[in-house]
Amino acid sequence: MKRPLPPKVETLFWSLLTALGYFLLASLSLYATKGADNIAAVWPPSGYLLAMLLLMPARARAGGMGGMAAASLGANLLAETPLWPSIAFTIANVCEGLLALWLVNRHERAVPTFMATRSVVNFCFAALAASIASAGVAALLTGGSFEFFRSWMTTVALGMLIIAPPVVMLARLAESGLLRHTNRATIVESVVMLTITAAVTAACFSQSGYPVTFIPCVAVVACSYRLGPFGAAGSVLIVAIITSWATGRGLGPIAGMEARPEVIILFLQFYLLTLLGSALPLAALLVGRQRLAKRLEQSNRWLLQAEAAALVGHWRVDLIRWTIQWSDQAYRIHGVEPGTAMTVQSSLDLYIPADAARMRATLEQAVVTGAPFEYQGQIIRADDEVRDIVSHGSIEYSRGGKPIGIFGTIQDVTESVENARMLEAARSDAEAAANTDALTGLPNRRHTLAFLERALIGARENGAPLAVAVFDIDHFKRINDVHGHGVGDEVIRRVAHRAKASLREEDMVGRFGGEEFVCILRRSSAQAAELVAERVRQAIEGGHGRADDAGPPATVSIGVAVFAGETSAEALLQRADEALYVAKREGRNRLRMAA
Ligand code: GH3
Ligand code: MG
Ligand code: MG
Repeated sequence: MKRPLPPKVETLFWSLLTALGYFLLASLSLYATKGADNIAAVWPPSGYLLAMLLLMPARARAGGMGGMAAASLGANLLAETPLWPSIAFTIANVCEGLLALWLVNRHERAVPTFMATRSVVNFCFAALAASIASAGVAALLTGGSFEFFRSWMTTVALGMLIIAPPVVMLARLAESGLLRHTNRATIVESVVMLTITAAVTAACFSQSGYPVTFIPCVAVVACSYRLGPFGAAGSVLIVAIITSWATGRGLGPIAGMEARPEVIILFLQFYLLTLLGSALPLAALLVGRQRLAKRLEQSNRWLLQAEAAALVGHWRVDLIRWTIQWSDQAYRIHGVEPGTAMTVQSSLDLYIPADAARMRATLEQAVVTGAPFEYQGQIIRADDEVRDIVSHGSIEYSRGGKPIGIFGTIQDVTESVENARMLEAARSDAEAAANTDALTGLPNRRHTLAFLERALIGARENGAPLAVAVFDIDHFKRINDVHGHGVGDEVIRRVAHRAKASLREEDMVGRFGGEEFVCILRRSSAQAAELVAERVRQAIEGGHGRADDAGPPATVSIGVAVFAGETSAEALLQRADEALYVAKREGRNRLRMAA
């Protein structure tokens, strides 16, 4: 950081800088015009003063103005201008500086950048208004003619318009340190282009045989295009210096015109004004465009980065040309090299066949209804990998309300779909495990009871008959005791298997506890239930010659109860249990119907 100067030193610095520069430029201009009929085309001190006033801190301005007044008076007196006109001109210059400063600052708090069209227009307006005021004051105080007024006004206006912008821009560049960071190529380009401008202008204005005043304009436009406002202001300044000097010396195509000297000067002023009036706004516009293009490019880069980070791509179908565009991420999702030419059909071909037709139908329907859509499907990537994708799309309309495109996003959701699939599988495994008896694979007590509750609700609602058959292995303790627990388990499994095999598809058998089972027989009357239960009993008892006829024989006793309006599953089972008890008591390996 630079250390700020003490206020007094700062004021002195700006006063001296303003006074010295003003004095030099004024003396030079006064001296130059002496040789050329006393008419100057441009009055550079006005531009220099305005530039200084804009650059210096507000507190130094009074000092700066004082310095300028002294320099103006001194230069005029030195050029042998009488005292009163010298004082009057100085007063006019002070007024003009103050008015221009006030007008520029009215719209722009900071030093103007000349980078925006608005800033350029505001500056031109301030310069023109200040030069009119200046010419008015000078003409009033000295009793000058209208010709004097017009000449003063244009020279001052040109001085401000041509000198102030390059001085302000250079000072700002130097102050901001940007000059040091500007790359060498830019500096070389600037120097080369401005030198060419000077050479071309000098060449054109060193002869008067050909009216080639338009050639420097080409150089100025080229500088404005390549170097921006700095190039515009700098090249116009160079052209102004060379053309004024040459014309003042009677050289060049303008001086060669067959016209009175004041007409020649007027033409030169008009020429310079035209140059400036086209170059500065053109450069400002170009800078605006470049900034816009840069911002656009940056937003596009951010969008692509965001897409890559979020693994979301985008696509757009042009409904007029029936073409499709993909973002880089969309290409990556499909495993296709970014930039590969795609058509709507070749995009749809990447879906698995069933999904391609569905996606096409979704697109066509969206165009008809205009509603946004979400689509989930599977694509086969270029490397043959099948991936799950989700696409969201919406219709784009022309100003006239005609559908012109479909814009959509595409996201690879394979991982989340796979996770959801695994979660669902785990959930259903857990549910199956919670409902299944591990030894027999039959529904366990919990599941059997739930099934019976549902069957009871069905029976109550539609009036269809329902029966339960409870059975228990006879003398099972003995089997365990004689053959051991392992063989006992085998017997339980065999009984379960045979019971299940002898039931219809719509019936179910569950293991209710130890060696006790429950059959739920839907749409079964008492006779039907008795038949089925008897078949179960026989299947368990018999089985000679069956593949599973190994191990000790076993029989079961069965109690059957038919639903008779019980309010709970337990009540119905209770009646079946009582019948089972009767069967046991009456000798086992038999079936008893509940009362
Ligand atoms: P009953 O004819 O009166 O039914 O006589 P039982 O000996 O079968 O008597 P009960 O039904 O009361 O006996 C049940 C026996 O079954 C008691 C228990 O040791 C045995 N048990 C219960 N669960 C299992 C099992 O999972 N495996 C084996 N091996 N035995 C079991
Ligand atoms: Mg038992
Ligand atoms: Mg038993």
